[in-house]
Amino acid sequence: MRYAVISDIHANRQALEAVLIDAGAVGVDGIICLGDVVGYGPEPAEVLQIVHAKVDHILLGNHDAAVSGRLDPVNFNPNARRLVEWTATQIDGKARRFLGALPAVLAGDGFRCAHAELAMPRRYGYIIEAEDAIASWEACSEPLLFVGHSHQPGLFVTGKSGRAYAIDAQDFQVEHGKRYIVNVGSVGQPRDGDVRASYAIYEQDAGTVYFRRIPFDVNGYRATLDQRGLPEESSPFLADAATGGERIVREELDFHPLSQEEAEKSGRATVTCLERAESRARHWRLTGITLGLLALLSCGLAAAIHHRFRPSHITVAGSSHSDFSVLTRQAADRTLRLPAAGRGLVGPDNPLDKWQVRLPRSGAVAVSAESFREEKDDGPSRQGFRLKSEQLEPFELRSSRFAVQPGMRFAVQGRFRPRNWQGGNIEMVLIFESAGGAERTLMVKQPPGLDAPDDNWGRVSSRTMSQTNTLESEGFVRYVLRGQFRGIVDVCDTRLILKGQ
Ligand code: ZN
Repeated sequence: MRYAVISDIHANRQALEAVLIDAGAVGVDGIICLGDVVGYGPEPAEVLQIVHAKVDHILLGNHDAAVSGRLDPVNFNPNARRLVEWTATQIDGKARRFLGALPAVLAGDGFRCAHAELAMPRRYGYIIEAEDAIASWEACSEPLLFVGHSHQPGLFVTGKSGRAYAIDAQDFQVEHGKRYIVNVGSVGQPRDGDVRASYAIYEQDAGTVYFRRIPFDVNGYRATLDQRGLPEESSPFLADAATGGERIVREELDFHPLSQEEAEKSGRATVTCLERAESRARHWRLTGITLGLLALLSCGLAAAIHHRFRPSHITVAGSSHSDFSVLTRQAADRTLRLPAAGRGLVGPDNPLDKWQVRLPRSGAVAVSAESFREEKDDGPSRQGFRLKSEQLEPFELRSSRFAVQPGMRFAVQGRFRPRNWQGGNIEMVLIFESAGGAERTLMVKQPPGLDAPDDNWGRVSSRTMSQTNTLESEGFVRYVLRGQFRGIVDVCDTRLILKGQ
């Protein structure tokens, strides 16, 4: 199973929609929300409706608890408290009951989720320093815990020594004998100076966690605040959009955790079990599907069904039949064969040699093979791809396969030059394919600086994170470029490199 783990949406519809598009493009089996669906932002009712329809498991955050009357708003700072009270006037009784009935903890196979620390989930204590993490590990047995609440993505790790370490958010694979707390950051109110929405992807089978940062329509968010009569200062992250400023998280906290006695008074934290919740969801989904099909059939809407199941993508297979080659140290620098330049737009009549291209049917994204030269450089021209996109619609370029052996480690590289970048994201991905055809993601790297001034070539390289991430079995790897953005981006020097073993 692959989950998107999101938290602290805080009624920011624009950020939530951007994250849902991204999670859809990554392809997830389920979405888990760690709470604080509302509070701060201008569209609590709208966001609740989207979350209710799209999110599979939702936990109770402290803002949700206050809005639904399960927590006294005196514990909030004045700004957050005013917004909790405003939010309560914007949602109806049904929404309030829905929030009020949310569980505090979600227990899955090998992982556990809550809004804040897990020792006493209804206390809503923060995990900021390494020592703050220990009580949560002591309170449960799973190796992997997911939390939100501080609005700062990050990672806490402990091993045999029992010492806790706080490290910056980075993609990782769960190692035997170690325990982790993942703070997925905030979708709608980031507090780490980065204005993009934050969330995480958890690949349960591989035990890997990927942090994601997704740009969203900040101006749209501002306009909605204005429409609903909320001042810009009520959403502190908007100041970062102007200054790109450094922030100190301790000073930004908006809530005073309850004392132990107070927390005890609010009753036992409810725990819901993922498997049971899923079979319940399946039941309702099945009921929904049955009713939906009956309705469709009785109306005789065969044409609608046909339209509905028409894939939204076209895939242009690489023109060469021999799909894979063997990856060796000697061939390391020539591993990704680039298409001959100047062949025009890729389409069913114009495939690329060795590259499979997946494009939205709408035609909003175009890919061509080009040769590039640096602006102030007489050096050799480079072959690569020009990606041109008018809409935030997902695309994907997949290299041919390379046969690989156990123990191999790799790096992927690429150089990116934005032209007229208008937001979105692009990533370099390394995918492993087993002999049986099952795929898993080995690494994901987002090129930094795409929103920097145009005409700069930025270099990005990535390497396997650690020994545990090297291959355990024979199979194949592919280099993948994927994303969704608006603007033009030139890509060259795409490389797959075999590292020393
Ligand atoms: Zn929050």
